[in-house]
Amino acid sequence: MYSGVLARYSEFLPVTPATPRITLGEGDTPLVRSPRLEKELGCGELYFKLEGCNPTGSFKDRGMVVAVAKAVEAASAAIICASTGNTSASAACYGAICGLSTIVIVPRGNIALGKLAQAIVYGAKILAIDGNFDQALEMVRTLVEKHPVTLVNSINPHRIEGQKTAAFEIVDSLGEAPDFLFIPVGNAGNITAYWKGFVEYYAAGKSSQKPRMMGFEAEGAAPIVRGERVPNPETVATAIRIGNPASWKGAVAARDESGGVIDSVTDDQILEAYRLMASKGGVFGEPASAASLAGLLKWSGKLDLSGKRVVCVVTGSGLKDPDTAMRGSPSLVELPAEVSDVERALGWGT
Ligand SMILES: *Cc1c(COP(=O)(O)O)cnc(C)c1O
Repeated sequence: MYSGVLARYSEFLPVTPATPRITLGEGDTPLVRSPRLEKELGCGELYFKLEGCNPTGSFKDRGMVVAVAKAVEAASAAIICASTGNTSASAACYGAICGLSTIVIVPRGNIALGKLAQAIVYGAKILAIDGNFDQALEMVRTLVEKHPVTLVNSINPHRIEGQKTAAFEIVDSLGEAPDFLFIPVGNAGNITAYWKGFVEYYAAGKSSQKPRMMGFEAEGAAPIVRGERVPNPETVATAIRIGNPASWKGAVAARDESGGVIDSVTDDQILEAYRLMASKGGVFGEPASAASLAGLLKWSGKLDLSGKRVVCVVTGSGLKDPDTAMRGSPSLVELPAEVSDVERALGWGT
């Protein structure tokens, strides 16, 4: 039986005999091939890593299970995070199973509905500030210096440690590292974690190559691409609406050491990829997750992908953000419950 990230990859994680092996079944997510899209894009093989299949619907669970286990080991009674939504859902969930009180600070009005619903039901204390994510993170950094509470944002190194297990799984599934990894970049913890995972697995002899890391910010929230902080980041992809990434250096190192790229994609490109990923790939990710495929669409003409193995990380579930899914969709056709009315509506005239 699968027993979670802490048990499966313990030899690569900062666990001791005293670390509780808590789990909700995080990790072990599907790596699915997309024959239809790989043909259109001219890739040898295209795969989606479905991180929306984690217990709270995003990859954050991989890092949170480690961070919360270490908090319990350290006898902490409370955890705190700033969040664009998914970190708070995950912290609230793992905090709940360990009996820790969980405090989340979120930017008011900029959290997708499903994520807020999760934090509420898991029982977190939720504080919505009149400010953005970067301000929330600054606040949390200050609070943990003054109060005995454990910070579980990705500046907590245990988060990165847990998140690197997704790279291990990709290599374990393919029997080799892919040629390219496309990934959204927000606070930049995840691209940092994947690169760490690929490097460690390569060093352990589990793969004979490492992928080129292709990271994508949203154009209105692209500090790494611009080379400067963005004071008022804006994008439909709220999970990557970040103007001063905590793991900025890690992302740049991943790019440079792998011969990769950090580029940006527009909201229109993100939304186009978001719909395409579902309509042709069968994968319903949240808008931020679609930055991977949007990046691949943008770069497929510039890279020679024939015969290459490409993985796009789908960081979170589309069900998190029903508002974006419904926006711009045609309104429902409402009809009497009569066969003839349905036939007429379908243009199947009688
Ligand atoms: C957190 C998150 C991201 C961004 O990851 P970073 O580690 O902040 O770069 C992307 N997509 C989703 C769905 C997320 O929850």
